[in-house]
Amino acid sequence: EAAIAAAAAPPPADAPTIFDKIINKEIPANIVYEDDKRPFSALPDLQRVLAFRDINPQAPTHILIIPKVRDGLTGLSKAEERHIDILGRLLYTANVIAKQEGLDDGFRIVINDGPNGCQSVYHIHVHLLGGRQMNWPPG
Ligand code: ADP
Repeated sequence: EAAIAAAAAPPPADAPTIFDKIINKEIPANIVYEDDKRPFSALPDLQRVLAFRDINPQAPTHILIIPKVRDGLTGLSKAEERHIDILGRLLYTANVIAKQEGLDDGFRIVINDGPNGCQSVYHIHVHLLGGRQMNWPPG
């Protein structure tokens, strides 16, 4: 009853999320990186990623990197062996974007999972945070 939103039970695995609307360009987002379907591109659909600025930034640079096809990956805790390539590409792209953003003094990568991790959108996403000194431990 009094539970905070972040502690709510996760939605069903097939429920659409706000990120589907961003992927489909149905709502606007400040996109900073996108793997497009290019002729002659060897990148399989399941490995294409999209990155956009977080609407509620927690640092001067706060970008979310997501797979364009969720393929069951509501969160990292749902990862299976078939997801190894897209998981690698999410992290690799975070580094490409960090360089693009000039985060040469460092940055932080976060993946929130489930209620205890404060996950609120159930389409796996990597947070890229930078542009200020981070603290440890996180809240
Ligand atoms: P939390 O909300 O606790 O950070 P998540 O790790 O699930 O949990 O992060 C979801 C992120 O998505 C939040 O940082 C939120 O600000 C961001 N977000 C939600 N809706 C949008 C949107 N329409 N455009 C950009 N970012 C969004």
